[in-house]
Amino acid sequence: MRHLPELFDANRRWAEQLRSRDPLYFERLCGLQRPKYLWIGCADSRVPANSIIGLEPGEVFVHRNIANLVNPDDTNCMAVLQYAINVLAVEHVIVCGHYGCGGVQAAMGPDVENPLEDWLSPLRQLVRASGSEEGTPPPSPNSRAHWYGLCERNVTRQVEVLESLPLIQAARDRGQPLSLHGWIYDLHDGLLRDLRTA
Ligand SMILES: [Zn+2]
Repeated sequence: MRHLPELFDANRRWAEQLRSRDPLYFERLCGLQRPKYLWIGCADSRVPANSIIGLEPGEVFVHRNIANLVNPDDTNCMAVLQYAINVLAVEHVIVCGHYGCGGVQAAMGPDVENPLEDWLSPLRQLVRASGSEEGTPPPSPNSRAHWYGLCERNVTRQVEVLESLPLIQAARDRGQPLSLHGWIYDLHDGLLRDLRTA
């Protein structure tokens, strides 16, 4: 017996729907992928890249992990960036975080088990730095405003990490059009906000 039949049924309906709209849909997609965007987002099930920005298969290259981190030591993320920039020649890299991120919240609390604790390490640094800014009162560890503020700061930080990568600098040096974006998604209203131009 096939497992998870409801998912296979949904898949068949989805493929049929697309084919009825455009009989050559899948044939064309097989030929080439030319996405203009690379999305680096949180693995959170409530933040699905294609749905949020209304893009079809083939239109956005996607990398997701817990808390949308860009870590130069993460071979997975670096390989995605390398392929997206050097081969697919995406024009935009979007780091998209979200308010209410469980990964950010975990980094505000007590240590957790590995490998998650290792993964959260850059976030812990961010949390520590946010509590030691001169002239600001120490944030309440349970404050929602503090948590949400850290979700934003995390996105900004990941864009800074991107800016510093030799891979990105090399693309710019050879004149390849490439913009970096830091966005945050609000689970409450389904809307995105651009943190870099806000
Ligand atoms: Zn998250």
